[in-house]
Amino acid sequence: MGENPSREGLLDTPKRVEKAYRFLTSGYEADIDRVLNNALFTVDYSEMVIVKDIAFYSLCEHHLLPFFGKCHVAYIPSTKVIGLSKIPRLVDIFSRRLQVQERLTNQIANTIGDKIAPVGVAVVMEATHLCMSMRGVEKQNSFAVTSAMLGAFQTNSRTRIEFLELITLRSGVPGMVESAPRSLACIADD
Ligand SMILES: [Zn+2]
Repeated sequence: MGENPSREGLLDTPKRVEKAYRFLTSGYEADIDRVLNNALFTVDYSEMVIVKDIAFYSLCEHHLLPFFGKCHVAYIPSTKVIGLSKIPRLVDIFSRRLQVQERLTNQIANTIGDKIAPVGVAVVMEATHLCMSMRGVEKQNSFAVTSAMLGAFQTNSRTRIEFLELITLRSGVPGMVESAPRSLACIADD
């Protein structure tokens, strides 16, 4: 870089960077079953459960630069529900890994699907990618929206639309799902 690595401000930087990356990639060590298993409850409830505006911070696996934004999760229980506080925890676990936004979105949806076998699961993630906005490439697409729709959210358009309307209310991104660029979560060009 042309920097002087022995100047005062940088002396402990390698140590701090290591510590920061250990935390930012701590999602590999988390035991999902341990996190969830004491928070899966059998209930008689079959309406849509939505947790929206979950803040998340992840690292793009191509550049190790952050992408971050909001995650919205919904599911329709069949016999079991997940303790509400566990959903942001699940988002954290998968965010604290080297990721692409599409895979992150799918992993959250698939895990909820696997653990409680609901009637349907939907996950929408809206994120800003520093590997694009900070490097000055493809600035117009540095905001990406991804979604994973399983079960009833995939097969029943009314269910899907109800969810999308509910999460769009406060997101400030009208029509985001229709106009969102797909598969542009990261450009691994260089
Ligand atoms: Zn990237």
